Amino acid sequence: MDATELKNILTEAIKGEVTDEASARREASRDTSLFERMPALVAYPKDAGDVSALVKAIGQAHEKDPSVVLAARSGGTDMSGGPLTTGVVADFAKHMNHMGDVGADYAVTEPGVYYRDFEKATLEKGLILPSYPASREIAAMGGIVGNDAAGERTLGYGKTEKYLEELDVVLSDGSPATFKALSPEELEEKKKLETLEGQIYREMHVLLTENAALIEAHRPKVSKNSAGYALWSIKDPATGAFNLAKLICGSQGTLALWTKAKLSLVKPKEHRAMLVIFLHELTILPEIVKRVLKEKPESFESYDDHTFTLAVKFIPEMLSQMGFVKAARLGIDFLPEAALVATGGVPKLLLMAEFAEDTIEEADAKALAAEEALKDLNLQTKIEKNEKESEKYWIVRRESFNLLRKSLHGMHTAPFIDDFVVPPESYPDFLPKLYALINEYSSHFIYTIAGHIGSGNFHIIPLMDLSKEENRQVIFDLAPRVYELVIKEGGTTTGEHNDGIIRTPYLPMLFGAEMVSLFEKTKQIFDPQNIFNPGKKVGGTFEEIKRDMIKA
Ligand SMILES: Cc1cc2nc3c(=O)[nH]c(=O)nc-3n(C[C@H](O)[C@H](O)[C@H](O)COP(=O)(O)OP(=O)(O)OC[C@H]3O[C@@H](n4cnc5c(N)ncnc54)[C@H](O)[C@@H]3O)c2cc1C
Repeated sequence: MDATELKNILTEAIKGEVTDEASARREASRDTSLFERMPALVAYPKDAGDVSALVKAIGQAHEKDPSVVLAARSGGTDMSGGPLTTGVVADFAKHMNHMGDVGADYAVTEPGVYYRDFEKATLEKGLILPSYPASREIAAMGGIVGNDAAGERTLGYGKTEKYLEELDVVLSDGSPATFKALSPEELEEKKKLETLEGQIYREMHVLLTENAALIEAHRPKVSKNSAGYALWSIKDPATGAFNLAKLICGSQGTLALWTKAKLSLVKPKEHRAMLVIFLHELTILPEIVKRVLKEKPESFESYDDHTFTLAVKFIPEMLSQMGFVKAARLGIDFLPEAALVATGGVPKLLLMAEFAEDTIEEADAKALAAEEALKDLNLQTKIEKNEKESEKYWIVRRESFNLLRKSLHGMHTAPFIDDFVVPPESYPDFLPKLYALINEYSSHFIYTIAGHIGSGNFHIIPLMDLSKEENRQVIFDLAPRVYELVIKEGGTTTGEHNDGIIRTPYLPMLFGAEMVSLFEKTKQIFDPQNIFNPGKKVGGTFEEIKRDMIKA
């Protein structure tokens, strides 16, 4: 079926626009991953009814031409290739961007609402969604739920899945459904429905019951995971509730498209103090992490010597980009660290443990207690007694990706080992092996390591010249070696950024064939025609990685 014919069918079916314009397709052909996929069309549904009509029309067209498929896109900031397709993109940001009710402890939202706007609305009630990602200024709720996003406060508060209460979805036959926690009696009622929704409940219940032991054995052992389908999260062991919203969260638009979400919120603590640790010797890192975690920091982040050096070097450029007032303070404030580097050398890792409490005195006391707990380790430490003082560390941590990106031209950011998680206890064994491995390939890229040190989640996003075949080959050589190390330590390939094009082929390595066959069955139950975002979560191949990787 050619694009014009399909465009006519879809235009007829929905109230929103459908376009084949080059600029719209080009924009939708990229996210922040290594990939490019040019869609045939971009559709802009106006409401949930439009999403239903779009899905139905796609399903019918797919019967005639299997290349007609649909991928959801909200903010388009995915690092894994999640929203990319050669079929049709359903763009939620243009019209489906309304906030619903914000209550005493929850908010209702459409997927196209950017997090920055969502938070503006929730802060009016003094509340936030604490699992917001570092990309909070550019990401939308669609992908925050779609990827089961997490961020700097996840250590203290958990991932998005924990806050997802109810999800309105459109199923693969175009029918609407609402997924939320069901009691055993409510589940039995749902199973009686003679619709796709009823069939999904019947078949998923059987799948979970027959494979309960296998699924439990593969429940991720680390504190955060976005790999695979979260089959272990559907049944709540404490209440017995059955909740398919937990499965849709993090499923990258491969099982259903969501149109409205109800998320619970928290009241953030008002005051923060930060313990900064300049670490020159990695062997004591696990001991530091163990002792600091005992004091219950709200976040525990880190960045490495490469980031630190880049920050000191590129501060003038960052200053001008950030606006003068904020920038001038950052520049002046950074002078003590520059002096510190001059005397003690660049630390291998800079650790930031932030403590949040209702009063500044309580926050300070916690930071001091953590510093005290490390005393015998003779570390270089510093306490920043309020958020204003600790802001410069946060800016460098949050900007570490951009810092690297701005530092060299002709190079592309290459997220391919960008989000693995290992248990913090494994650091003494794991980190030297990781550094040694990466250094074997370091002539092919420059890199920084930043991450959520408290939860063992590392972000390594190298800069590479992707026009060179030998550099692109490194992605295929290094990633499996890193993942082998990660898996040996009991870790996972992705804590927050998800599988997408780049990691789906590694799911058998992480979960094994039996579990992957359950993922395939799950996909088959929800989307028997395979119209939702094929090749992500199940069925992705290394050939696709090779084919669609940016080569310029
Ligand atoms: C600098 C930078 C920092 C980042 N930091 C983090 C971080 O700290 N934590 C983190 O988790 N991620 C991070 N990311 C990755 C990404 O920004 C987040 O995962 C974000 O939540 C994606 O939101 P989005 O709306 O941009 O998603 P999109 O790119 O639009 O989509 C992401 C996935 O969700 C699916 N999806 C979108 N809308 C829907 C819908 N309505 N129904 C069903 N599926 C849908 C898409 O198909 C896709 O598979 C970062 C990215 C960048 C560039």
